[in-house]
Amino acid sequence: MRNIVIAGNWKMYKSNSEAKELVEELKNKTNDIIKTRMIVCPPYTALSIAAELVKGTNIQVGAQNMYWEQQGAFTGEISTEMIKSTGATFVLIGHSERRQFFGETDETVNKKLKAALQSGLNPIVCIGETLEERESGVTNDVVGKQVEKALADISTESMKKVVLAYEPIWAIGTGKTATPEQAQDVHKFIRSILFRLYNTEVGNEIVIQYGGSVKPENATELLSQPDIDGALVGGACLKAESFSEIIKAAEKLS
Ligand code: PEP
Repeated sequence: MRNIVIAGNWKMYKSNSEAKELVEELKNKTNDIIKTRMIVCPPYTALSIAAELVKGTNIQVGAQNMYWEQQGAFTGEISTEMIKSTGATFVLIGHSERRQFFGETDETVNKKLKAALQSGLNPIVCIGETLEERESGVTNDVVGKQVEKALADISTESMKKVVLAYEPIWAIGTGKTATPEQAQDVHKFIRSILFRLYNTEVGNEIVIQYGGSVKPENATELLSQPDIDGALVGGACLKAESFSEIIKAAEKLS
């Protein structure tokens, strides 16, 4: 059985003092969570603070981005070793906001994924279609291509560490959620690609999260779907109350 993985993407929110407050509150509200894996992804500036505060709990910390080179004249970029040195163990790769606003492509996603796996960081690779693509009926083509390109030259062994996050762009930060059926259909399709590219074990083991306006009110229904193994949460993770309610909904299903 796949363990449910709930990750919170803080995006460009929270100063260091706010980050401390949020992690402290989250710790208090989730100290009875045993089976659900919990990850918080603060901005780079708060990674060390969060990682220090979650020591001894089963919350893990992830970065929201990374660069594939190890070091060098790459002003403004952060390497995997730098991320690891903060105590973070996860990294988001290819979030749609990075694709939309910062020139992330399937090729850069693949480079980042290789570097993350090489470094021992656990990657969460994001994929998803636009509203226009969904309405033109090409969701599976788009998502399928994104998955195949992201995973180019990733070995079966390395693949076991990868988490995928299906995030329909039209559902991110919009309050619109994919219906559980819409999400399940795409998750099942993604899993079928993993069976084809890898093997039954990988296909069955890989965690595929759903992301796009997940909140306490819709978490149970989404997470009950057979191929939805977790959630990548934006807006609702910025308050310990709503994020912990999503985690508790997951724990009940675990
Ligand atoms: C996200 O940022 O990955 C996300 C899913 O955001 P939201 O939950 O706000 O839609």
